Amino acid sequence: MSLSKDVVLKALDMVKSDHNMAEAKHAHDLEVAYKDNAELEQIDNSIIKIGSQLAIIALSGNTQKLEELKKQSNELTGIKKSILKHSGIPATPVYKCKKCNDTGYVDGKLCDCVQKVAKRLSYEQLCSQMPLKESTFLNFDILYYSNTADITGDVPKEVMLGTLNACKDFAKSFPSGKNLLFMGACGLGKTHLSLAIANEVLNRGYGVIYGSAQNLLNDACKESFDYNSGTEILDNLTSCDLLILDDLGSEFSTQPTKAMVYNIINTRLMNGLSTIINTNLSLKEIETIYSSRVSSRIMGNYTMRLFIGSDIRLIKAMQK
Ligand SMILES: [Zn+2]
Repeated sequence: MSLSKDVVLKALDMVKSDHNMAEAKHAHDLEVAYKDNAELEQIDNSIIKIGSQLAIIALSGNTQKLEELKKQSNELTGIKKSILKHSGIPATPVYKCKKCNDTGYVDGKLCDCVQKVAKRLSYEQLCSQMPLKESTFLNFDILYYSNTADITGDVPKEVMLGTLNACKDFAKSFPSGKNLLFMGACGLGKTHLSLAIANEVLNRGYGVIYGSAQNLLNDACKESFDYNSGTEILDNLTSCDLLILDDLGSEFSTQPTKAMVYNIINTRLMNGLSTIINTNLSLKEIETIYSSRVSSRIMGNYTMRLFIGSDIRLIKAMQK
């Protein structure tokens, strides 16, 4: 996937700053340890002294003495390590990336960890308004759904309990390549549950992009019309581990946005990547607006969940 140079440079800076922080922390820890253990400095001095003796003995050819000094030096190093270990200080700084020690490079090439951070930054640019903290499985309150059957005979609380469990299963079994279509009017919890899934999936280290269909499709279309830009946004939308398209149908649909919807849905399906779509459109309306190609992809590959009940936001507002 193509990432802009700016994003990669920013990621590299972040990784390098992790390196500096790890070094500074280790230096500080050592300073404290040396203050607490006078023995450490004495050991260091002895090791230095042995070092200079070693050079002289090596020239003299006295191998027995040489081995003896090496043994002494190793013993002292061992004692020093065990004193530090006892004080809870590792022998070397603790870097986040064991491959590159947070330098950003392995054998002159950019390390995977830089790519990973760059990807995360790139996603964050796309979903800067993801209200994650407010929407978790824990604060999804099933009590807001009625226990009485509606006109169709469905009991909202029962239906929504099933949906809640299906969402928890989706998050738990991620990545599964499965897809969800949340249908229903506004204020029934579609955004809440998709963000709750995003929370869990993000916590497990996967890349998630969440955004309103309007914003994401607009950004991707704008990028495709700009010959000077790359394809970073489209690449992100088609390659992130989980894409959540919120409120499909609310965007101003034009021929390019409709084609973009098909392109994104289809590419993700072909790559086995999960997508969650929230909409208050019916399948028939999806077909009318986006073509039967889009609706048949969704029907064949998405699990549909109908959100029913009364507008939760309204109930909450009335309770205040
Ligand atoms: Zn690395």
